[in-house]
Amino acid sequence: MSDIYYQAPARSGDNIESLADAVRQAFNLTHQDFFPVVPFVELGLQHMQPGIEFDIVEGDLLGARMGAVNPLTGAFMIREDVYEGAVRHEPRHRFTVAHEAGHALMHVGTLNRVPIPGAKILTYCDPEWQANRFAGALLMPRHLVWHARTIDEITTRFGVSREAAKARIKTLKIGISI
Ligand SMILES: [Zn+2]
Repeated sequence: MSDIYYQAPARSGDNIESLADAVRQAFNLTHQDFFPVVPFVELGLQHMQPGIEFDIVEGDLLGARMGAVNPLTGAFMIREDVYEGAVRHEPRHRFTVAHEAGHALMHVGTLNRVPIPGAKILTYCDPEWQANRFAGALLMPRHLVWHARTIDEITTRFGVSREAAKARIKTLKIGISI
């Protein structure tokens, strides 16, 4: 989604963690390491957020973007190769799908245009920051990732990239050196 032009209502990290926990709870996935992100966006998301229309689209429709959610209509588009990658459990693509799911849950009908395009917005109001935090929380819930001992353990158990695992370690201040 074009991040520069929109701001979201402020959300704390804790608020977003709770939202991701609620999603897992709604699908009985609280204690499961590997979150099935593709079935979730295809079959589950609409039940949580009516009005979301999930669609797989060819690359040129989205330009350089891998996915997008229209904050006005709820159209949720994932580029075909990203979708296929996520189906194959490729970590980077799984994260992208989870990120867009965050937009779908938090930002449809809630965004406001930034008065001056390109103006700096507060982190807590930044839709991209919020969607990234949501993706990290959904794929690596606090209560499950907290006791991990190594980056490799996190990437294997949760189906995430090393970069995503490191970012999560930093965010939660987990005692693993990165
Ligand atoms: Zn985004």
